[in-house]
Amino acid sequence: MAYLQLQGIEKFFGENRAIKGIDLSIEKGEFIVFVGPSGCGKSTLLRLIAGLEHIDGGSLVLDGKDITHAPSSKRDLAMVFQSYALYPHMSVYENMCFALKLAKVDPKVIDEKVQNAARILNLTQYLQRTPKELSGGQRQRVAIGRAIVRSPKVFLFDEPLSNLDAALRGQTRVEIAKLHRDLGATTIYVTHDQVEAMTLADKVVVLRDGVIEQVGTPLELYDRPANQFVAQFIGTPQMNVVPLQQVPAVVAQQAPAGAVGGAIGLRPENVSVRSTGSTPVSGQVDLVEALGAETLIYVSTPNGAQFVARQNERTGLHAGDAVSLDIDASQAHWFDTAGRVVAA
Ligand code: ATP
Repeated sequence: MAYLQLQGIEKFFGENRAIKGIDLSIEKGEFIVFVGPSGCGKSTLLRLIAGLEHIDGGSLVLDGKDITHAPSSKRDLAMVFQSYALYPHMSVYENMCFALKLAKVDPKVIDEKVQNAARILNLTQYLQRTPKELSGGQRQRVAIGRAIVRSPKVFLFDEPLSNLDAALRGQTRVEIAKLHRDLGATTIYVTHDQVEAMTLADKVVVLRDGVIEQVGTPLELYDRPANQFVAQFIGTPQMNVVPLQQVPAVVAQQAPAGAVGGAIGLRPENVSVRSTGSTPVSGQVDLVEALGAETLIYVSTPNGAQFVARQNERTGLHAGDAVSLDIDASQAHWFDTAGRVVAA
């Protein structure tokens, strides 16, 4: 059995079946990220694991022990919230040692653990400050420190970076990755941020409407999505998914039999924009986004198909320019009418 085993987990809010029989195996030391669109159930699933919501069906086993209905305090898990949830009148030091004091841990051991966590998180010089005397990023580190000192079996993070600005988000993300490398602690992390999911996760769990759509490493999900939903959810900009009847015959005729009536999926890096007349697919530029290291070019074709191309070079193109598209069909994903992947 896996270190943390979810089996047939169910959650109802009144009539709403928010979590629909979820099975998931998490190994010791893994960094798992739950992603999915708003309302898919990722926070609820985390809260069920944390013991903050009652599990209505199925079982949850941690390290061989059934904790399905164990109170939160007896689960040996530590949760880090988006809102930090620090005690405003206590110092950083007191915030970090609070849970251990409650548990009547020897003060000497407490001090060692707090000092150690503060060192790992670069908080040593702030231990006597109160939360309001800290920046957002420092507060989030205190919240993480408070979890670390408890040496829990599993760390649970609920969108921990969403209150930080872009630069700090990036920086704190790297710190969390390093922390995981150093501590090797089993971690479950909820986010709607693609980059966090792709860079932090050993395994990404894509949720939709209370069910798991796919579990895989970040690159497995990117390269071999199981269906159109995962294909379009993972990757920025989104994969181009175009109905076969809107692509030129030279491309559509390469589709496998199962994809008839379905669609073709192409990552933006597998579409490139050429000078007009050089390929059978003509189009017009709608928008150019020059991001510095790369350029995104949005093109529509005469029959209404829309594509975004990602190119490393700067193009000199402008909205309204006539162009041709070079489509690398060898890299295409093919979808049937139900949005499932069809093997080429
Ligand atoms: P977001 O990214 O917007 O935070 P999420 O994927 O975390 O979304 P959840 O918050 O888990 O989604 O919600 C899943 C479903 O359960 C939604 O339909 C939501 O409305 C419902 N839900 C969540 N919490 C409650 C609650 N306390 N009472 C009633 N319904 C709830």
